[in-house]
Amino acid sequence: MPRKIDPDEFRVRPADAVNLRERPTKVPRFYRSKKEYEKLLAKQVDALSELQRMHYACNRYALLLIFQAMDAAGKDGAIRHVMSGINPQGCQVFSFKQPSREELEHDFLWRANRCLPERGRIGIFNRSYYEEVLVVRVHPELLAPQGLAETTSDGESIWAQRHRAIVNQETHLHHSGTRIVKFFLHLSKDEQRKRFLARIDEPEKNWKFELGDVRERRHWDAYMSAYESCLAATSTDLAPWYVVPADDKKNARLIIAETIVATLRGLDLAYPETSPARRKELLALRKEL
Ligand code: ATP
Ligand code: MG
Repeated sequence: MPRKIDPDEFRVRPADAVNLRERPTKVPRFYRSKKEYEKLLAKQVDALSELQRMHYACNRYALLLIFQAMDAAGKDGAIRHVMSGINPQGCQVFSFKQPSREELEHDFLWRANRCLPERGRIGIFNRSYYEEVLVVRVHPELLAPQGLAETTSDGESIWAQRHRAIVNQETHLHHSGTRIVKFFLHLSKDEQRKRFLARIDEPEKNWKFELGDVRERRHWDAYMSAYESCLAATSTDLAPWYVVPADDKKNARLIIAETIVATLRGLDLAYPETSPARRKELLALRKEL
């Protein structure tokens, strides 16, 4: 039997101080061969597809999955593989890049608010409003075009203020039926280097390589400390963060799939029941066919 995955092992508890050096980027494999990995993932993808159908029919909750990571950590691949079995109608992916002029004219949660999943759906954020306490914190000059009217008056930093705004927003969403699960794909700096080198050395991967990625890598430590403070401040019981070891892509995908399946299984989902009156109506219509 392969090792069983316990999502709780990767969850950030609300009281945790987060030290990313102490959290692994690599853990023993949950699969013993490529074939076994494929079998395990396929099983979870099937389970997910089945749960998604019930989630859709039940129409009680929305599910929001947030993915954050350094470049080349495997966000795109994880989203593609884990969500591959889902009916595209029930699921939407949004990728958040540098904000547009229009987006900069609004508060920092605005653009994401417009992309939130409806009840019965799964929404995936490939990057998110969390960039506002990550890339923007690492490059505070990005704040200038946001034209903020005031800085904090009580000595609270803008980052603490934003963390609080996010927690409030996610709590509000939870009370409105949106369940939120957040994944930080935790990649080692060395593994990122290997993946960048492969993007340069293997011509079919050249398209994935961007100059900017190497520039951001120079700020690695600043990013890690922004992540640490963000994960510690915004992982709540209602909207937990999972720090997923990402040096092994297959392992990471299995952990993510298991966490999403467990979250959906934890919801009170059921197909809507047919009332006796409706049943009678249907039987009457049947006679007409
Ligand atoms: P990939 O490189 O795999 O295609 P990606 O998510 O890295 O995916 P890019 O277009 O390379 O996509 O990068 C998007 C960039 O936009 C990232 O560097 C990210 O930090 C930046 N970004 C996202 N949100 C914001 C924001 N609110 N403010 C400033 N920059 C942001
Ligand atoms: Mg990129």
